[in-house]
Amino acid sequence: MEIACLDLEGVLIPEIWIDFAERTGIEALKATTRDIPDYDVLMQQRLRLLEENGLGLPDIQAVIADMRPMEGAREFLDWLRARFQVVILSDTFYEFAAPLMEQLGWPTLLCHRLETDNLGKVVDYNIRQVNPKRQAVLAFKTLYYRIIAAGDSYNDTTMLAEADAGILFKAPDNVISEFPQFPAVHSYEDLKKEFLKASNRNLSL
Ligand SMILES: [Mg+2]
Repeated sequence: MEIACLDLEGVLIPEIWIDFAERTGIEALKATTRDIPDYDVLMQQRLRLLEENGLGLPDIQAVIADMRPMEGAREFLDWLRARFQVVILSDTFYEFAAPLMEQLGWPTLLCHRLETDNLGKVVDYNIRQVNPKRQAVLAFKTLYYRIIAAGDSYNDTTMLAEADAGILFKAPDNVISEFPQFPAVHSYEDLKKEFLKASNRNLSL
């Protein structure tokens, strides 16, 4: 049997922090690991900015509830789930993703968790494990599943490499040229075709 592992942000939904920064006008929240490579330093800055702007989890979730999955994402995901067992592997947090996961029909999601106090203030974050996407693929392989994985960015490349087949979707040019071993596609129609090609079963569109 086969499992399809999908990245979430940039594949099915927009980048949550960037969209959130735009909707709230808090420019500094647009910083990513490209600007601040140390993830803990970046997250502590994000938590501080949320606090300084008086944004607790309910406010954050209200903003996120207005976001929409990428156009065609729900249809693509439904198509994929009819043909594969699908698990979404993401570096986001359940508390952020929830309003968008609802719009996607609550597919299985493995990601991280935020800690809030009883007033809803985000006080800390819990990373599920180190290198979580690759570890999930490794774990599924111990169950003798074949894994086909798709993602858009650097934090997906160890997952793509560990999978039996890896696909880049809407990846930036630098990622595509640095990882020429992975086919790179930019539309859900082409992504469907890559999943069919990578499958060892006779599936059709
Ligand atoms: Mg991504």
